[in-house]
Amino acid sequence: MEQVDLNTIKNSVTAIQQSIPAHVLLVAAAKTRLPEEVRAAIGAGIKVIGYNYVQEAENMHGFIDNQVQWHMIGHLQKNKVKKAVMLFDMIETIDSVELAEMVNKQCISAGKIMPVLIEINSGKESNKTGVLPENVFSLIKQINNLPNIQIQGLMTMGPRFGDPEEARPYFKIAKSLFDEVKKAGIPNTEMRFLSMGMSNSYKIAVEEGANIVRIGTMLFGNRGL
Ligand SMILES: *Cc1c(COP(=O)(O)O)cnc(C)c1O
Repeated sequence: MEQVDLNTIKNSVTAIQQSIPAHVLLVAAAKTRLPEEVRAAIGAGIKVIGYNYVQEAENMHGFIDNQVQWHMIGHLQKNKVKKAVMLFDMIETIDSVELAEMVNKQCISAGKIMPVLIEINSGKESNKTGVLPENVFSLIKQINNLPNIQIQGLMTMGPRFGDPEEARPYFKIAKSLFDEVKKAGIPNTEMRFLSMGMSNSYKIAVEEGANIVRIGTMLFGNRGL
């Protein structure tokens, strides 16, 4: 195992924070990272950590004190909804009526209101999760009255490119949907958060209106060493 350089993580947090406007929330995408790496990031000022898998978040909970918010940023499997509702402070990846209803139901049992984002498949990629752009309004209108979820914005991954400039059109698609939904004034639907941009693309995402960026590699180094 590679020696973890905790100072590098601290410096990276500072550098990324300095490269984005103050209103943009930096989510540390923490998949595969060790507890001491995640703690180093939190020590350097990270307020939100994102996990792709419920099980991994659950394992990490025991190692992290509760000064931090937890966001679900991966596809949520239906048999993990109950646990996800207990572990997370926001679910960024709602992409179907059925999933929204299941989250709502578990939140009612848990006596909790869950902030959620709608995940958009902005690249219309057949192998990707997320709702197609043309179906966003219809999805929101079917779930906005569920009492225990709170729609607070949109999230997108977008296709991965070597050159992050190529991601810009997909960020524009998400931002224009964000603006349209906001303008439509749908009841119980806030458009506060637009979550898009990763290590190689976050600067472009911020230029296109992101106010949440999810960063792993630039913060912690390469995965899978
Ligand atoms: C891993 C991951 C990220 C961060 O990706 P990096 O390229 O490592 O910055 C962001 N969002 C999601 C959903 C991810 O799974």
